[in-house]
Amino acid sequence: MSSKLSLLQEFFTRQTAEWLLAGDNFAALKNCLVKEFSVRGNTIKVQYNPGRIVSTAAKVDTKSISERKCFLCRENRPNEQHDLPFDSEYVVLINPFPIFPEHFTIPKTAHVDQKINGEVSALVDMTVEFGDAYSIFYNGPRCGASAPDHHHFQMGTAGFMPMEKDVTERLASSDAVRGDGYFIDAVYDGLRSYIRFVITDTASKELVVNEVESFISFYKKFSGGSAEPMMNIVSCKDRKTGDIYVLILLRSKHRPDVYFADEPERLVISPASVDVGGKIITPRKEDFDRINEELIASVFDEVFVSKERLKEVFSAFVIRTVS
Ligand SMILES: [Zn+2]
Repeated sequence: MSSKLSLLQEFFTRQTAEWLLAGDNFAALKNCLVKEFSVRGNTIKVQYNPGRIVSTAAKVDTKSISERKCFLCRENRPNEQHDLPFDSEYVVLINPFPIFPEHFTIPKTAHVDQKINGEVSALVDMTVEFGDAYSIFYNGPRCGASAPDHHHFQMGTAGFMPMEKDVTERLASSDAVRGDGYFIDAVYDGLRSYIRFVITDTASKELVVNEVESFISFYKKFSGGSAEPMMNIVSCKDRKTGDIYVLILLRSKHRPDVYFADEPERLVISPASVDVGGKIITPRKEDFDRINEELIASVFDEVFVSKERLKEVFSAFVIRTVS
């Protein structure tokens, strides 16, 4: 075990013992209701978690953000919430409103906008250090980040998102791009469209970091937008092989139409990395009771780019890489 990982696990134990609110919330999580579905061959679990209403229903428009104190800046954090430095730019905090049995937020020390460009290297470093126990993820500023004004990653118990198992067991696609110690492919699994970067030899880490960064820049240009394209990123480690995975999930929408529908059709789910990773969070009991395979499939179809669009994006990226 890396020394950083053992320090982190001690930190978690200490914080949940010292900070009552967080300790209680982690304890309550052990009894929360969970339902399991198989949707187009994918395992999807639904967690009833009333503690997440603050995050799920968070107002992330510019006005609301500018009117509240940033909860990731050190001066506004509760006294009980301590931090553990990761490197000179990032600190690790425990998340007091957890989804995972062990759940962390990893903000930058500086109050800078949520933006992935330039931060992929830190993401991969975190996966190398902590991947034996945790997976790391990123919610884009328009795809579930509840603090789009303060750059951060999150991290939770490895293997908790059902998608991780499929991603690490899935063989490379026939049109995968292969390099020395890595491959890149595009996957549509029936629910999700994503680009998969797989580091099979850690000596190729920097090369792959550059590929991920260049894909994000390419995709922004290709999409014709000025803002960061809509995406979630999940990074995890296959504990058997040591391979490192960086998955860029290509989103077309943050919240589905049912989120804005009138009652009783309204469904309060606000898909971010964990939800699209196969663990859907419902903060309201009525939504937990009502959700079914059909609703899940329609939400995924709505919030992801299509299989055709994925293919188009990947082919254009590959041609650009070759030329
Ligand atoms: Zn801040």
